[in-house]
Amino acid sequence: MRENCEETISAFYRNKIREEEQFVAYGPLKRAVQKNAHYQNSSEYGVENDFAGDDLCAIDSSNAILHKYSDRLLVLMTGKCVSECAYCFRQVNRKTSIAELEVTEIANRVIDYIKQHNTVKEVILSGGDPVLLGNEKLAYFFNRVSSETDIKNFRLHTRSIVYMPDLLSDQVIKVLSDYHVRLIFHIIHPYELCDTVKQKIKLICDAGIRCYNQFPLLRGINDHVEVISELLNLLDQNRVRNLSVFITDPLNCIEEYRVSINRCYEMWQCLETQYPSWINSTKMVFDSSIGKVNIKNLIEYDPDQGGCWFQRRDKKIFFKDIPKEVDIPGELSAMLWKRDAKVRV
Ligand code: SF4
Repeated sequence: MRENCEETISAFYRNKIREEEQFVAYGPLKRAVQKNAHYQNSSEYGVENDFAGDDLCAIDSSNAILHKYSDRLLVLMTGKCVSECAYCFRQVNRKTSIAELEVTEIANRVIDYIKQHNTVKEVILSGGDPVLLGNEKLAYFFNRVSSETDIKNFRLHTRSIVYMPDLLSDQVIKVLSDYHVRLIFHIIHPYELCDTVKQKIKLICDAGIRCYNQFPLLRGINDHVEVISELLNLLDQNRVRNLSVFITDPLNCIEEYRVSINRCYEMWQCLETQYPSWINSTKMVFDSSIGKVNIKNLIEYDPDQGGCWFQRRDKKIFFKDIPKEVDIPGELSAMLWKRDAKVRV
């Protein structure tokens, strides 16, 4: 449990937390990077590691290149992040198990693999945060893969936009634009979209880069339909299309961030029926060893095992849930503290 993790948080994000602390001692942005020191973790309601089945689809012992879906290759370019998210499903021990290969070596392995697996049509860069590689290494990777294979589709996942927007420099933006890379932000809360972040997103969109978002549903950060809808509205206003809301992996180490399936389902139904299409077009899913599973594919609740069965195509998967008494919803007044702050000012 990290009670003081100042050194793992960027200065840009720390300033936002300081602003938040003037109104709420333990608000959503602080909670994003710092676990609750008083939370009593039962470690009974989940699994220890790798619910998503990353280990099963790593193509070699480096754990850096994963092939789970036949048409996509996921490349963990680095285990390093700009700041450490306290809710990360790739906890530090998993991220450090990714061998830090040189970009030349990653490109060699990706190209060799694609040449032997012609079903792969897209290469997805993730991590860690691949923006930390910088423009020259990113350009090298895209250039090698696009010139030595038939791959035309690249995606890059990053949270640097909220932790250190300057990392997405003009040079990095140019590389992403030159190689038509789709950029996927992981913005989890509307207050992460401050003016600086919005200006950076505008620069990126103006460069012709297609911007998307996806984010996990996190207790005490965004587990209320009003927080989610405010975030989705803001993303839409800033030309970012949200693809998915992720149900947090059932991992014991992040139990305090988990939201029960029942509440996830209620929020999804509310979004589906009471909000316009630019909000309700987002999917609610979880990642698993059998692929992404949509909440719509819930089959039944199994009270004896304390969880739910879901179906994906011809396969079933069991998702261990947290009980109602553990799933204490985040307080809306703390998660959207600026609403009250406006009244007070
Ligand atoms: S940026 Fe992503 S990989 Fe890095 S700590 Fe946060 S959630 Fe985990």
